[in-house]
Amino acid sequence: MNRAHNFSAGPAVLPIEVLQETSQAVLDYNNLGMSIMEMSHRSAEYDAVFVEAQKDGLEILGLSPDEYAVLFLGGGASLQFLMIPMNFLKNKADYVNTGYWSKKAIKEAQWVGNTNVVASSEDMNFNYIPKNITFSPDADYVHITTNNTIYGTRWNVVPDTGNIPLFADMSSDFMSRELDYSKFSLMYAGAQKNIGPAGVTMVVIKKSLLERQKDNVPTMLNYKIHIDANSMFNTPPCVNVYVVGRVFKWIKKLGGLAVIEEMNMKKASLLYDYIDANSEFYRGTVANKEDRSIMNVTWNLPTPELEQKFVKEAREKYNMTNLKGHRSIGGIRASIYNACPIETVQALVKFMEEFKKENS
Ligand SMILES: *Cc1c(COP(=O)(O)O)cnc(C)c1O
Repeated sequence: MNRAHNFSAGPAVLPIEVLQETSQAVLDYNNLGMSIMEMSHRSAEYDAVFVEAQKDGLEILGLSPDEYAVLFLGGGASLQFLMIPMNFLKNKADYVNTGYWSKKAIKEAQWVGNTNVVASSEDMNFNYIPKNITFSPDADYVHITTNNTIYGTRWNVVPDTGNIPLFADMSSDFMSRELDYSKFSLMYAGAQKNIGPAGVTMVVIKKSLLERQKDNVPTMLNYKIHIDANSMFNTPPCVNVYVVGRVFKWIKKLGGLAVIEEMNMKKASLLYDYIDANSEFYRGTVANKEDRSIMNVTWNLPTPELEQKFVKEAREKYNMTNLKGHRSIGGIRASIYNACPIETVQALVKFMEEFKKENS
């Protein structure tokens, strides 16, 4: 199979072995004579798939099933923007605005209650992560976006929120690095960036949070309902969870997040080192090096016309796809998630050198 060099920000590249396993499971799961999509979600065979994905997910994050629950929900990360305040915004909530997706989370919280933007990097078009933030002592929770998919920034260090529960949208860097995940009370990620196909959102939630839950939360938006039903209150996205489960097996087989992070750092360094060494032609967009994302690398060329030419040539000459920056800011973006092979990044750097020589 001739694989493209796929730099899509999402839905994004998946490990080839996961695609192969899935293609088999779609035809006939475990010789049961039926497809994974034809099985009852209440069957013992499917339940094992689901429960194992929950278990492996927590294991990879280093969290205990006694303390945390895993939900596989529909509605994308975008629905979590609303579910969170519906369940937990009573007095007020602190939000850090680090870009497009943070803003969307803030907008949904505003439907529900007092939403305090405690820090923002909008003054510099989101090219940095705010530091030394003083959170409101009376906040119900603090919400951050750990990786900013469009602007190419990430929280290098998890902020200390003291006793205030920390919630995070981890859609674009979920399971990309080692962190003390127990610092988070609630984390969520649309699967399509780093852990699976679109159509399922993984939510990891501290069970003790439920003590703080609001009354009268409508059923499908109610975390307690989903937790009590072990994420099967209604029919879950069965095939998607199967794929996520296979991605978790792949992560575990490689050696867990320590190894994944090392691989990701290697890929990101290749690209950033090249950009830094050629800054007269390729200009990184992030102000401080420590804020640079290792998942979404963003840069500019001397002119928008050259950027257009760069994207076009990469695709036509080398089958490198989706290098165009997000429609809201332009420029170039290479998304190099967990499953992006290092060879793809090496090929990109090689092309960048060739393009620079021909165009400067
Ligand atoms: C892609 C993305 C989202 C949106 O996810 P959906 O699953 O499409 O709702 C939210 N947050 C971040 C950080 C993202 O990268």
